[in-house]
Amino acid sequence: MPIEVCVLASGSDGNATYIRSGSTAILIDAGLSLKELSRRLSLIDVEPRSLDAVAITHEHIDHVRSIGPLSRRHRVPVFTNDATARASTLRAQCADTLERFTTGSPFEVGRLRLRPFPVPHDAAETVGFSVSDGRVNVGVATDLGSVTLEVRDGLSNCDALVLESNHDESMLMEGPYPPFLKERVSGPHGHLSNAAAGALIESVFHGGLRYLVLAHISRINNVPSLTVKTARRALGRSGSDVLVSVGRHDMIGEIITM
Ligand SMILES: [Zn+2]
Ligand SMILES: [Zn+2]
Repeated sequence: MPIEVCVLASGSDGNATYIRSGSTAILIDAGLSLKELSRRLSLIDVEPRSLDAVAITHEHIDHVRSIGPLSRRHRVPVFTNDATARASTLRAQCADTLERFTTGSPFEVGRLRLRPFPVPHDAAETVGFSVSDGRVNVGVATDLGSVTLEVRDGLSNCDALVLESNHDESMLMEGPYPPFLKERVSGPHGHLSNAAAGALIESVFHGGLRYLVLAHISRINNVPSLTVKTARRALGRSGSDVLVSVGRHDMIGEIITM
């Protein structure tokens, strides 16, 4: 049974990644409005009510915008850790569809096994996910300011990676952001630069990696072609077969089937 991955939206306007194996379909984050999320899901023939879970990385609005309506209107179970639930309005928004996971402990949704691992970011308890059907592993880490052992471990042995490559360091520093924001974005709990993403890619690369989606790309402090170039350089010659794409804010990505 193939596993399908589609980045429905990526960036500070909203994030959502669709993953399916057989009859099990989940989202990692639901950061678009319900209307826009439903529209993008319809482009890949998915009804919101058919989703088995939404797993949340953290409580920032670009990751949880439609969690409430999605859970209330379509009865989609929402999986989160306790710190994220407490730091947000999730408990009020989706009282009876809220399920807890413990960061570091795998849990199962139908045919999929999700392992949430901690990532350094300025929210209550941000996680990345490693998602597996027992055959194929997909790693998702979209908001992280720095790379830890747990991040490397969470993203190792993946067939596909959805990985933040947020900004070019000099574009950020020379760009229009006020100093406090520059500091926040580039800090250890902010967002990953192209160079830092490149170093991470290099350290988790292995022969089985087939797809790399560069995610959460800043529209102000980055250029997709620059992001791809840095990632390509990190993949090197041994990674020349890896299909590299870019997660977009304005349209869905291609469906990756493995
Ligand atoms: Zn974000
Ligand atoms: Zn965030």
